[in-house]
Amino acid sequence: MQEYKCINPNCGKVIDEEMLRRHIRCPFCGGRVLYKVRNVVKKVKAR
Ligand SMILES: [Zn+2]
Repeated sequence: MQEYKCINPNCGKVIDEEMLRRHIRCPFCGGRVLYKVRNVVKKVKAR
């Protein structure tokens, strides 16, 4: 699932795609600037 993170430094909440539905807007602070968060975690082996 695609997740978004609020760019507002006072908020910074992670919002699920479901919570956004039609409106790309932070439900916590009302901010409209969100950026996509990738859930892909890169695993790097330490040598
Ligand atoms: Zn916010």
